[in-house]
Amino acid sequence: MKHQHSAVRQHDDVRPDYDVVVLGGGPAGLAAAIAIRQQYQLSVLLVERQAQGINRVGENCPPETVLLLKRLGVAKAFYRDAHQTCPGYASVWGRDDVGYNDFIVNPMGPSWRLDRQRFDATLANRAQALGVDLLWTTRFEHVESGHHNNDRNSSNNFRLHFSNTRDKTTFTVGAGFVIDASGFQAIFAKALGVEKHIDDQLFATVRFAEVEHGKHSQQIHLEALPQAWCYHTLLPDQRAVSMIVTEKPQLEPLRANDYQGLEQALSNTRFIGSRLEKLQLKNASYHIFPIRSGQLSQVEGQHWMAIGDAALSFDPIAAQGVYKALSHGLMSAEKIGQWLTQEKQSQQYSTYIDHQYQQYRANRQHVYGLEQRWMGEGFWQRRTAK
Ligand SMILES: Cc1cc2nc3c(=O)[nH]c(=O)nc-3n(C[C@H](O)[C@H](O)[C@H](O)COP(=O)(O)OP(=O)(O)OC[C@H]3O[C@@H](n4cnc5c(N)ncnc54)[C@H](O)[C@@H]3O)c2cc1C
Repeated sequence: MKHQHSAVRQHDDVRPDYDVVVLGGGPAGLAAAIAIRQQYQLSVLLVERQAQGINRVGENCPPETVLLLKRLGVAKAFYRDAHQTCPGYASVWGRDDVGYNDFIVNPMGPSWRLDRQRFDATLANRAQALGVDLLWTTRFEHVESGHHNNDRNSSNNFRLHFSNTRDKTTFTVGAGFVIDASGFQAIFAKALGVEKHIDDQLFATVRFAEVEHGKHSQQIHLEALPQAWCYHTLLPDQRAVSMIVTEKPQLEPLRANDYQGLEQALSNTRFIGSRLEKLQLKNASYHIFPIRSGQLSQVEGQHWMAIGDAALSFDPIAAQGVYKALSHGLMSAEKIGQWLTQEKQSQQYSTYIDHQYQQYRANRQHVYGLEQRWMGEGFWQRRTAK
């Protein structure tokens, strides 16, 4: 196995009750588990539906990400893991020629292109070293609300039902506090009846591949198209990721003939296609990811909160998803502090999330609004309408 993974626990090893249960082992859930155990001697269980070590999307992070990693105690490991820096963006967006946006003047340095397997393993190892119980291939199924007796010591606030995705066995765990870090589906909040407001939906058709031969610049490449946008970058470990982000009706042609539609569309792009010509790729894998911009109508309660994409999810044009996930993870420790001292709920986190979503929407409108060449096309009209 390429990276050292934390040991996989069996559900037989799991305690009957935990102070805190984190649902979801993406960057938000792992950061929350770390931040809580760094500050409090509470029992913490993290449950993730997928197996450890899967290949995840979300590799491009702003320079400031390192500040959060320091607070999570993994900055040294992060530098050691040799993720790649990225000098900036080269984009054909809003004009016919290439524009450059370099990080050269950013005091925090360049942005990062993560090796997600290493990154995720580093966070999981840190969580495990701090005493978090990590349970992979385990799906949260449903919740029974308990006594809600205002007693922080109660592990009866929720009874959580799980199933093992491999052997299909089921079991339950009591929880004092639940952190919903289950991604845009927000499975726990939805199980409590909280609604998610979605204000945009796109789809990314993604190709990961190994680079057999060839080189091109280390920049992230972006290109606006009449009914889509295209993204391409090299990754650590001689790999590359390329994707076309579009609306649902354009999905089928990209998927056609075992994704030959995507191959064709990528090589037809004027700017990115010319970069791709310089690479010989092998072992391509293709994936489709829904992209939903949206916010939960309620992100916290007395004994729970939603963080990361579960609380609010962004279009990846913002390249903020991983940063947001880590920062919400750190914030969850503050909420746990209030819960422990039974302080009155401040709603500070809810206010922050509202503000963050408003900022994101304004920023998204600005970025799509920079592209004026196809204002007759619904794809661009829908993303720039006030
Ligand atoms: C195509 C694409 C490209 C992107 N590119 C970037 C990028 O370059 N940079 C960036 O910063 N962001 C990017 N993002 C966004 C980024 O991936 C997310 O914002 C980020 O992963 C959110 O982290 P999270 O921990 O909140 O959620 P997730 O990473 O989605 O993790 C949630 C976890 O919960 C688990 N889960 C779900 N249901 C259950 C259940 N019932 N029981 C147990 N576990 C469950 C899931 O398996 C998952 O592992 C991209 C997103 C997409 C779709």
